[in-house]
Amino acid sequence: MEPLIKIRDLDVIFPIGKSGFFGKPTAYLQAVSGISLDIHKRETLGLVGESGSGKTTLGRAILHLEKPTRGKVEFHLDDEYVDLEDLNTKGLRKIWRHMQMVFQDPYASLNPRMTVREIIAEPLVVNRIGNKNGILEKVEKVAEMCGLQRDQLGRYPHAFSGGQRQRIAIARALALMPQFIVSDEPVSALDVSIQAQILNLFKDLQNKLGLTYLFIAHDLATVAHVCDRVAVMYLGQIVELTETERIFYSPKHPYTEALMSAIPDIDPDRKMKPVLSSGELPNPANPPSGCRFHTRCRYMEPYCREAQPELNEIMAGHFVACHRAESLTLQGAVE
Ligand code: SF4
Repeated sequence: MEPLIKIRDLDVIFPIGKSGFFGKPTAYLQAVSGISLDIHKRETLGLVGESGSGKTTLGRAILHLEKPTRGKVEFHLDDEYVDLEDLNTKGLRKIWRHMQMVFQDPYASLNPRMTVREIIAEPLVVNRIGNKNGILEKVEKVAEMCGLQRDQLGRYPHAFSGGQRQRIAIARALALMPQFIVSDEPVSALDVSIQAQILNLFKDLQNKLGLTYLFIAHDLATVAHVCDRVAVMYLGQIVELTETERIFYSPKHPYTEALMSAIPDIDPDRKMKPVLSSGELPNPANPPSGCRFHTRCRYMEPYCREAQPELNEIMAGHFVACHRAESLTLQGAVE
């Protein structure tokens, strides 16, 4: 399948701490470390991991809302790949018409002083796309696609529930008819009863418009519901990447095993033994040597402390970063 987005050796490093008022940073936090990944056209790629694993930073770096420190992101547009690193601010604004983001908190991401019509129209106005009537027509069309009624468009965000606000945020992201959307925990702030409606809306829009999603989530049941493939992140690195079903039924990385075994109710037939990783997530500013997971891994061997495992393809389409991936029988394996 042709990639819509190619990510190569991506690093995002933040300076932290300062010695004195104007001093140099005393440390650096590598939020994203050496990530290479293809996102295929029309797929939903899930990105999972604990808080602090770098998921949101990776999503923002792909859009260049956070400038990568190293590496590149290429976007397929008009039969060629555009390297976002080569674009100035004007060029980035143009490419953002095709790449949008939906945020976690629909309460914080909408301007309370704008009507729904103005909120959805804003990207079209800023990018000078169409005349007034054309813009209003487009706003009504995307609002309808997102399940909003025409008579709701003159209201302000405070008049809407969380689920409806997320519909408004999705409509705004869709106004420019993008090809790619990064959805950062788009349902985690919503009531459980509303989550399924919004997830179904994402799927429906994908079918209608051929969208490609990067779906960032910590709720693995949500990921199982919507994603074609899943990438598992740990301390800024991808440790496993494969089809959703394989991630849930036959994970190969010990960290994925611990994550997946923590959700026994996803399928009553899936009998995975609970496996817990010991300890807390290490400080990302000072990650462990060798395999970053070695301080919590029940299968750790002394050499795991020395060399960092590469993300290798151990079978077609299944990538794992573990020295023992091919020989290990995971204790939480599905019975
Ligand atoms: Fe565990 Fe070693 Fe594999 Fe890291 S490389 S996940 S420490 S077995």
